[in-house]
Amino acid sequence: MNEKQSHVFNTPRWHKTCLMPTHGKGIYVYDSEGKSYLDAIGGTHVISIGHGVTEVADAIAEQSRQLCFIHKAQFTSEPQERLADVVTAMAPEGMDRVGFVTSGSTANEMAFQVALYYHQLRGKPSKYKIISRWHSYHGHTIATLAMSGSRFVRNSLPPFDLLNFPHIQAPHCYQCPYGLTYPSCQLACANELARTIEQEGPDTIAAFIAEPIIGGAGSAIVPPPGYYEKIREICDFYDILFISEEIITGFGRTGKNFGIDHWNVIPDMITATKALSSGYAPIGAVIIHKRVREIFDHATKNIPLSLFTYAGHPISCAAALAVQNYLAEHNLIEKCAVIGKYLKNELQKLAARESFIGDVRGEGLLIGIEFVQNRETHQPFSRSLGITEKIMQTGLKNGLILRGRFGTGTGVDGDHILISPPFIITEAQCDELVEKLELTFKEVKQSLNLVCAE
Ligand code: PLP
Repeated sequence: MNEKQSHVFNTPRWHKTCLMPTHGKGIYVYDSEGKSYLDAIGGTHVISIGHGVTEVADAIAEQSRQLCFIHKAQFTSEPQERLADVVTAMAPEGMDRVGFVTSGSTANEMAFQVALYYHQLRGKPSKYKIISRWHSYHGHTIATLAMSGSRFVRNSLPPFDLLNFPHIQAPHCYQCPYGLTYPSCQLACANELARTIEQEGPDTIAAFIAEPIIGGAGSAIVPPPGYYEKIREICDFYDILFISEEIITGFGRTGKNFGIDHWNVIPDMITATKALSSGYAPIGAVIIHKRVREIFDHATKNIPLSLFTYAGHPISCAAALAVQNYLAEHNLIEKCAVIGKYLKNELQKLAARESFIGDVRGEGLLIGIEFVQNRETHQPFSRSLGITEKIMQTGLKNGLILRGRFGTGTGVDGDHILISPPFIITEAQCDELVEKLELTFKEVKQSLNLVCAE
């Protein structure tokens, strides 16, 4: 379908040719012309259990028959209560409440509002700012855009600076913003949080939000050991809440329940969305530690939080519950860790053959590839070459769905892609993914006549 035939506002322009898949099965998506695509990004890091799982379709159908909708002002629903039990059991110790919302943006928006109310209820209403990092994306509401540090997002959008939130450097060791090396850097990137809090005034800061392993905006940047322990210490010292933003990393994608489980740290809140329902229905979660929850328990008035009409929608909760049952029954989080190691290893072998791959990184099935023109100096390609876009277009032609961004080098330059297939991917399918990726890279290099230093 072309742009002129579609009555959908704006989006068809975005991808120029509007492909229309007819169905998906496992890790593949099929279009109306019968072409198959290996979904190497799981529909933007969403799909955990694969396309076309009948158990989930049945659970959705059954819930639709039983009760399609009920509002939280008077009611809860059985799927919501059962899902809350499952989610809090998976969460780090002490995180014993969860609020369901509709998306990643609304999850981060709600976490921000919880942080504001938390401080207000404790007699500290001046704490209203949220600190985040460059190379981050937190959503598309005004508040979450203001949190987002990605230049790609900030440069292309309307007046998000209505809320002028502070940002600190991302813990990107491969392109260290300070030109330092771990461990002699002594975690300069974490210490920047303390400096920024001091500069802004500790009495003005409500929370720090960070993806434990950076997703799309940085393609699986994994902070060094000790980073989040240091962050936790700083947050505690200044009475600031730590929000672990797990829209992508939550519910198994990194091979553990939550991304923050790779460090010895318990956050105050976790926001998580994508793998919760594996894309079968829209839902997001804000998981809350009891030290925050207790403040709300003691409140003398009703706090109007997360009143979105569709928050905790029974059909979305039923879908997510079926997905989490499926994940557990098939041990898919453990499998994600194992197959993720295999895929990363194969991609590292590909990096040895392809001189424009500078770095392969990540945990589980959240694997990033960063492209450079000089592996010695880590010098990125100029943004004007549009390497990321060319890789995505060529991949699609080769039957491989890819997604990437840029900016991890200089803030503007620095192309990278994020590989995040469903957790059910097999070794043979990983090999197919790598083969298609290699073909794509060769074609892009050839078309741009790229010369890279070894
Ligand atoms: N946070 C991260 C890390 C994301 O990747 C996304 C979306 O891709 C969001 C937040 C926003 O989520 P949503 O698009 O569901 O609002």
